[in-house]
Amino acid sequence: MDRNKGINNSILELVGQTPIVKLQRITSDLPGNFFAKIEAFNPGHSAKDRIALHIVENAEKKGLLKPGDTIVETTSGNTGFSLAMIAMVKGYKCILAVSDKSSENKIEVLKTMGAEVHVCPANVPADDPRSYYETAKRIHKETPKSIYINQYFNELNIEAHYHTTGPEIWAQTEGKVTHVVIASGTGGTISGTGRYLKEQNPNIQVLGVDAIGSVIKKFHETGELDTKEIAPYKIEGLGKNLIPTATDFDVVDVYEKVADKEAALTARQLIKDEGLFCGYTSGAVIQAVKQYAAKGTFDKDSFVVVVLPDHGIRYTDKIYSDAWMKEQGFLN
Ligand code: PMP
Repeated sequence: MDRNKGINNSILELVGQTPIVKLQRITSDLPGNFFAKIEAFNPGHSAKDRIALHIVENAEKKGLLKPGDTIVETTSGNTGFSLAMIAMVKGYKCILAVSDKSSENKIEVLKTMGAEVHVCPANVPADDPRSYYETAKRIHKETPKSIYINQYFNELNIEAHYHTTGPEIWAQTEGKVTHVVIASGTGGTISGTGRYLKEQNPNIQVLGVDAIGSVIKKFHETGELDTKEIAPYKIEGLGKNLIPTATDFDVVDVYEKVADKEAALTARQLIKDEGLFCGYTSGAVIQAVKQYAAKGTFDKDSFVVVVLPDHGIRYTDKIYSDAWMKEQGFLN
């Protein structure tokens, strides 16, 4: 439905249907036509609203979730905010296991949004009982009438984007899209969107964005998890040190890796050039567009849609802080 027509019953009716805007300046020296799908227009300010709502509503349909029941997930990022929002509106309890690397401020906001937050040590292996993965699993097991979202290993993550993001891009571009450029974390966005678009037109190129320090690109190329690829990096929500089953690697044509510094500077340039105040991975995606262009991926007729995953407001203490940028050596 048209969200601006009449009155919506709840904020959850505003999930999805995000606008696409032509980029005016940031890609003007590249061959092709570039358009951005702005996921910050979701009520929770990120694409994660789509998967959170889809997974919760799927559980409701299966009779696994009734008001008063509990939603459990391991995240301090966007999925946590989306789940906390949905839990508030629908009357569920929301329990999040987060790492102690998460900022105090994020944890405070999640608590204010009604979530119960368990802070777990980041520097233990994933299978350690204290890790946030094991903590979430234990809470799920011990809590009757609870569901575990498990976004990295949940096929419904792909399905959410297959049913929404993909069809929206196809309709909004009237089938003119030739390339999409999409960040890969869990892989849900790129896999679901790419799968739908390729079913409409198999010539559409699905271009992935990964982080330097993550294993995703190499796995796509070799089919093997190469632990030598793993290194610390700053971009949150991009890439991973494991292989998520929520990524359908067959849908992706190629990946490009981006560095922390370039992604941060490009996110800041996105405000100056386009007035778009978006998150760190949005900078990564535009940086990847520049790298793809330098490799000759596009020509003057290319119709390129990039997905900008979230809003800039969650990064005011990081890429939008000059002090932080200087500490990292990204600014003089
Ligand atoms: N950008 C941000 C800010 C995210 O939080 C995520 C989710 N991890 C992504 C991009 C990647 O999206 P996906 O998980 O669908 O691959």
